[in-house]
Amino acid sequence: MNILIIGGAGYIGSHVTREFLDNGHSCTVYDNLSSGLRENLFSQAEFIHGDIHDYCSLLEVMKNKKGFDAIIHLAASKAAGESMLNPQKYSRNNICGTINILNAACESGIKNIVFSSSAAVYGEPQYLPIDEKHPTVPENFYGFTKLEIERILSWYCKLKNIRYASLRYFNAAGYDVKGRIKGLEQNPANLIPIIMETACGIRKEMKIFGDDYDTQDGSCIRDYIHVNDLASGHVIALDYIIKNNKSIVVNLGSETGSSVKEVLDITRNETGKPIPCKIAERRPGDPAKLTASASLAFELLGWKAKHSDMKTIIKTSWNVYK
Ligand code: UDP
Repeated sequence: MNILIIGGAGYIGSHVTREFLDNGHSCTVYDNLSSGLRENLFSQAEFIHGDIHDYCSLLEVMKNKKGFDAIIHLAASKAAGESMLNPQKYSRNNICGTINILNAACESGIKNIVFSSSAAVYGEPQYLPIDEKHPTVPENFYGFTKLEIERILSWYCKLKNIRYASLRYFNAAGYDVKGRIKGLEQNPANLIPIIMETACGIRKEMKIFGDDYDTQDGSCIRDYIHVNDLASGHVIALDYIIKNNKSIVVNLGSETGSSVKEVLDITRNETGKPIPCKIAERRPGDPAKLTASASLAFELLGWKAKHSDMKTIIKTSWNVYK
């Protein structure tokens, strides 16, 4: 198939592009390189330097002679903390940007969309593991934008026959197990890249945000999902919505939880680096524990995480950072 991957030069986008190429698809990456990197591009995929706010450019690309079968939409701002300080940026990039993509897709007759959603749509967990029936009450503006987009998608599905897969990612982590992707995220806000930067001395020390949570070791527990597993979920989900002519909303998670301290210990073991850290205040809006139920993804798609054990996540990350 001909696939347009919007945001395909980013950390997750490059892994998704690699997976579509590996499965024999023809890929075009559309990215403004605001956080994506040229080094994340592949010679087998055409690259278009473009912005999702430029409607004319989107339309021109989508109407091109290739005739895209599907759009994979990964272009978004993703720092939950920042979204609370600068909601304008998140409304514009996430909500307005997606509306442009959807309108251009309608105008050019592209019917299939895979959308990067997030577990942030759920907010404070009312029970664990979190399945797709869990109430959606986002705690931060970032999660709100993802939920709003899901609502818009469901209307476009009803009104314009758009088929979509909304994939609710838990904590994406790790790097390509075959070592083909090496672009480092700039100014990361997530735990594992911060630990990696501390291990290689880019940072002097890292902070553990709270060690007085109601968990075994007092630090927060999250469901880390290897980015290769996330990527394979996109290929399988697209296949599913096309074959079944049906839209879906599914979690992609590993169904296991690791605490901040456990991640730190495993990284110290794998890297042999001391990784200085100090205990800091809790970060506002952080639930103690988040784990996914991914049984719907298994039931519908036969998808299951294969590379998401913490050792593989840390090894593949260190492979790039060291
Ligand atoms: N965390 C931390 N120190 C950091 C960054 C993150 O202790 O410098 C913790 C954070 O409080 C959370 C977990 O690591 O419990 C994962 O945070 P991240 O920002 O990676 O993802 P989130 O769960 O917020 O989506």
